[in-house]
Amino acid sequence: MKINMPENANRIIRTLQEAGYEAYIVGGCVRDAVLNKEPDDWDITTSAKPMEVKKLFDRTIDTGLQHGTVTVMFGKEGYEVTTYRVDGKYEDHRRPNSVTFTSNLVEDMKRRDFTINAMAYNDAEGIVDHFHGVEDLESHVIRCVGNPSERFDEDALRILRALRFSAQLDFEIDENTKEAIRNQAEFLKDISAERINVELTKLLMSDHPERLITAYELGVTRIILPEFDAMMETPQVNRHHAYNVGEHTVKVIKAVPKDKALRWAALLHDVAKPVTQTNDGEWDHFYGHNEKGVDMAAGVLRRLKFDNATIDRVKRLVYWHDYGMGQVPKIKAFRKALNKMGKDLFEDYTYIKYADIMAQSNYHREDKLNNLEVLKEYYKEIVDKEQCVTIKELAITGRDLIDLGMKPGPMLGATLNMLLDKVLEEPELNDKEKLIGIVKDNMKN
Ligand code: ATP
Ligand code: MG
Repeated sequence: MKINMPENANRIIRTLQEAGYEAYIVGGCVRDAVLNKEPDDWDITTSAKPMEVKKLFDRTIDTGLQHGTVTVMFGKEGYEVTTYRVDGKYEDHRRPNSVTFTSNLVEDMKRRDFTINAMAYNDAEGIVDHFHGVEDLESHVIRCVGNPSERFDEDALRILRALRFSAQLDFEIDENTKEAIRNQAEFLKDISAERINVELTKLLMSDHPERLITAYELGVTRIILPEFDAMMETPQVNRHHAYNVGEHTVKVIKAVPKDKALRWAALLHDVAKPVTQTNDGEWDHFYGHNEKGVDMAAGVLRRLKFDNATIDRVKRLVYWHDYGMGQVPKIKAFRKALNKMGKDLFEDYTYIKYADIMAQSNYHREDKLNNLEVLKEYYKEIVDKEQCVTIKELAITGRDLIDLGMKPGPMLGATLNMLLDKVLEEPELNDKEKLIGIVKDNMKN
């Protein structure tokens, strides 16, 4: 098999070989190339020590010398070149901080997590595949290199990586590997929130976020996202629903575009259902779950060390996800809602709403979809007619009010809000003369 790698990657390999060293592309890029996917980056592994690598190339960056990694630059393009290594002692189920270099490629392959990630390639030798990675790629299996229990004991992040790759590639996790995950999921307690965030986000942003249910079944979410376990254990006896909260949630995640805030909002939109559930003797209800969900979602995201912008956006989407169903609102009411929601949220709201409707039972589905269409038409009309929905869009400013003789202070803001309320009711009023007229009338009284 021939892999077409970028010319510069090949140049690095040839330069190293001509200097008497071994060199291969390795890991994710070999896996992706065999799968006919365009790799994100091309990593190189070599028997040369970091200082020897640096001597051979004009421009290098010391990316992680202690781990053996040098980045070789060609223009803006960088290639990570890492010396064959074996990992030192592991502590607390986390990656070791010391490594030893080796001159043996197979030793380097042994430390890698899964068979599909433990392949190397160069043009002269073709694929080097000691652990049958190609076979596992063909049969769609994620399998640890070596003994799964030992490998997860060394580094528990691999548990999440297994689930994440299974979601990205739509592969099954091998039975022995699964069994070890089940037994050792607890080790994830030692893994940093940042690394859990990265893997969970990749899983959610994949083509198969429903693998989150595998994570639940293997006892993994119990450790890193117990809120999801509560969702999986909350049935919805209600005509609008056909699935428990967790199953419904996964369908919503899968149906929204691959955007970080959107996929997390989908995961967390019903996070408060388990704690707001009531039953009237016949049906389950979840009154106020969106409001309560805002705090719970923020709690999860803060725990996982998310940035404030993402937390803020997810909170707003959780809050608004239930808006607009039941009786379809009038456009006046919608303008007021849009003012509170923020125009920047509306498009994402429509994605969540559509996915949410489609992941419910088909009870009143046509009406719900129709409501959503009406709201989208309202929005289009508001944008097309440039109707005002924020203070900023008023045809009058605080400056104008001061020119009319008002004193700077809280009255200014209150007046602008009063004008906005009127304009939200009656968009035609958003005209400087008309608004000045209203202000003058008000000042007389
Ligand atoms: P991606 O497409 O997400 O980048 P990748 O396989 O390239 O996937 P990286 O995290 O970039 O994943 O790691 C590169 C390679 O390093 C992997 O293919 C694997 O061989 C090895 N590796 C990464 N993390 C671990 C780990 N925790 N334990 C063992 N080997 C690992
Ligand atoms: Mg990679």
